[in-house]
Amino acid sequence: MGGSGLDPARVAALKEREDAAFVEMRPRSRELWASGQAVMPNGVPMSWLRTSYDHPPLFIESAGGSRLRDVDGHEYADFNIADMSMFTGYGPAAVVEAVSRQVGLGSQYLLPTEDSIWVAGELARRYGLPLWQFTLAATSANTEVIRIARASTGREKVLFFDGKYHGHFDDVLVEIEDGHLVPEEDGLPHDVTTRTRVVPFNDLEALERVLSARDVAVVITEPALTNNVGPLMPDDGFHEGLREVTRRTGTLLAYDETHTQVVGPGGLTRRWGLASDFVTVGKSIAAGIPLGAYGMTEEVAAVLQRPDGRDDDKPQVAVGGTLFGNPLSMAAARAAMSEVLTDDAYAHSQRLGSRLADGLSQVVAAAGLEWTTHRFWPRSGLSFSPSPPRTAAEAMEDFDVPLRRLLRVHLANRGVWDAIVGAGPTCSVAATDEDVDAYLAAFADLIGELV
Ligand code: PMP
Repeated sequence: MGGSGLDPARVAALKEREDAAFVEMRPRSRELWASGQAVMPNGVPMSWLRTSYDHPPLFIESAGGSRLRDVDGHEYADFNIADMSMFTGYGPAAVVEAVSRQVGLGSQYLLPTEDSIWVAGELARRYGLPLWQFTLAATSANTEVIRIARASTGREKVLFFDGKYHGHFDDVLVEIEDGHLVPEEDGLPHDVTTRTRVVPFNDLEALERVLSARDVAVVITEPALTNNVGPLMPDDGFHEGLREVTRRTGTLLAYDETHTQVVGPGGLTRRWGLASDFVTVGKSIAAGIPLGAYGMTEEVAAVLQRPDGRDDDKPQVAVGGTLFGNPLSMAAARAAMSEVLTDDAYAHSQRLGSRLADGLSQVVAAAGLEWTTHRFWPRSGLSFSPSPPRTAAEAMEDFDVPLRRLLRVHLANRGVWDAIVGAGPTCSVAATDEDVDAYLAAFADLIGELV
């Protein structure tokens, strides 16, 4: 897949050179990877870590602030920040202190702590939904949202927008291929598509057509799609239309702010004044200590509430897990939200995000390329087209995976760890002007070689 307007042969030649350098520079990572193959599929603790990058895995020794250090002694200005789950930066002092204290007091009781009330209250303040529940990841938060939505509406289907990612549970792992819904990966039941509907982002007519059957329990979407295809921004009026048609057809609406929470306290929900029945978050809310959460209205929470003293065998909604909402995650989230993810910290990351976008635009314009630079608060990136795509199909037309892969490996060899392919670089709250300078210098260097 090309699409950037650059010569694919030149891209391939540079990729070969950079791949060779990548391997050459990292003998210890190579050794560890070889040992890993004996005990783990793909040689890594989560096989996806191998398939999500086309270069060999990097083994990490440590990280601090905005910097990642590998076992071969290379340091990277980190713009992937663990796919945004370390937006707080690595090892913020307040979180280290809170987690160290809590682990000594007990990391798990299967009983609530006072911190959970603080964290739920702070999420309610940020996102405007009154009632919250906790899991260990955004995937399971979305899974529970769907179960509650099904219990609450008596409907089974769920609707997502094309280009989405909401986790690795069955209902969401379907995609459109040649106009048909198909399972996205192996290992899924063949009838997984029967309960899911997918329509293009920004297409209110298609949405209305599907929802008018009144058999969809919940629409789940990010307020702007941030996965797989770079950010897709909503058209003017899209969210108003989405809320109106979901209400009119008795469908619930869930905003997944797992990534978009980096735009400020309360994510895009607060920034754009969005109304919904559920909001899910995860990743960085507890500074990378596992925690997912979802907020909901009192109406939908009614299916979870059990009056005091009642003891009957009425079926419960299938939610919960032994380690969910544990005191360690709660202590981390309280410290992260009270001391790290502050208004000033978001403003700092946004200033750097704008600098990064300005710098990318300048390099692109100077090279005479007709590409679009993303401006997504702390995050930037590129579409290889003159105007930003509105749908996943448009985004894929000129996505140019080989060029994106070259950019990753080229930057890695120059001390910059870029976002995974399909996302864009994000400045964490720990990022610095020097990090942004390093990104822009390495980017300009590559474009200079390509153009
Ligand atoms: N929702 C969104 C929007 C995401 O981007 C992701 C992960 N990329 C998830 C949910 C799932 O998060 P996790 O893998 O931490 O469960």
